Amino acid sequence: MKAPKIEKCKNCDGTDFQRIDGIFAVTKVEKNDSGISFMPASGIPIIVYMCTKCGELKFYPAKLFDEI
Ligand SMILES: [Zn+2]
Repeated sequence: MKAPKIEKCKNCDGTDFQRIDGIFAVTKVEKNDSGISFMPASGIPIIVYMCTKCGELKFYPAKLFDEI
């Protein structure tokens, strides 16, 4: 699948997004009696773009980019 087209920034109307190098992850967490436990073995690999005007971040599933 091809990478999705980046739309206009919802924060500042900027149209220039720069990809941040690498693949990142949204880590799964579980709530329990003592607070929140991070589950680093479970999560969603993501690709991150940043608006060059205001710094707003956009996350996309890495599998949409065929990178994972
Ligand atoms: Zn912006």
